[in-house]
Amino acid sequence: MSPSNPLLSVTGLQKAFGENQVLKGIDFTVHSGEVVALIGPSGSGKTTALRCLNGLEIADAGTVGFTGGPEVSFSAGLKPKTAQILRSRSAMVFQGHHLFPHLTVLQNVSIGPIEVQKRPKDQVLAEAKKLLARVGLEAKADAYPNSLSGGQQQRVGIVRALMQQPDLLLFDEPTSALDPELVGEVLTVIKELAQEGWSMVLVTHELAFARDVADTVVFMDGGVVVETGPASQVLSTPANTRTQAFVQRLL
Ligand code: ADP
Repeated sequence: MSPSNPLLSVTGLQKAFGENQVLKGIDFTVHSGEVVALIGPSGSGKTTALRCLNGLEIADAGTVGFTGGPEVSFSAGLKPKTAQILRSRSAMVFQGHHLFPHLTVLQNVSIGPIEVQKRPKDQVLAEAKKLLARVGLEAKADAYPNSLSGGQQQRVGIVRALMQQPDLLLFDEPTSALDPELVGEVLTVIKELAQEGWSMVLVTHELAFARDVADTVVFMDGGVVVETGPASQVLSTPANTRTQAFVQRLL
């Protein structure tokens, strides 16, 4: 991690839905190999912030810049090309239920690289099989999503994100749709990826997991970043009273 050279810099990010000003100027950075957990009460804007990084939402103002790439400066009227630039740098793992039901596991994780990124099919399929084996799903390559458990589906979602060869992995509450007994297997995969050096931003309500895996915690409330710091510090001895109240309730 080099403090002087962030992989991702987010400044002044704003987003409104109609009258609802959801993000009121968000700043944070992610360094190469860093795991950043976005935490905060429901409705504080965490998912919206994550979706703006990936171009799934187009912010109203602010900048999102990846190292080596053009800095995207949001302003009214900026549209699809922005999303394209951002989407080429990061990949999102959703809460669940985002696999194509009519495609096999292998097809689900390889269709994007083959059809969109136009990478050679043989190479893509070989990589997909390797990554499926990596998350313990070698035997499920030809299965359809509805025959898999929620935890298995989520591991397929992670492989699909890895197949995009992103610089940054984005996780939006990756375990919130899972039965409690399936949470561990997904968190284990995420933790292993973190240990392998993947850079990631993780929206999570699993504060114990955030403490375990995140380098940095960003606490959001009411559309602003209230506190940012090393995970151990923000989760154990938060400086801000709002962070204290939130953390005390959940840890
Ligand atoms: P969090 O992830 O912290 O729970 P969200 O970013 O999901 O917060 O939501 C923040 C606010 O933005 C909520 O009030 C939510 O209703 C609103 N919101 C999110 N997405 C949309 C959307 N597509 N259209 C309208 N309102 C939205």
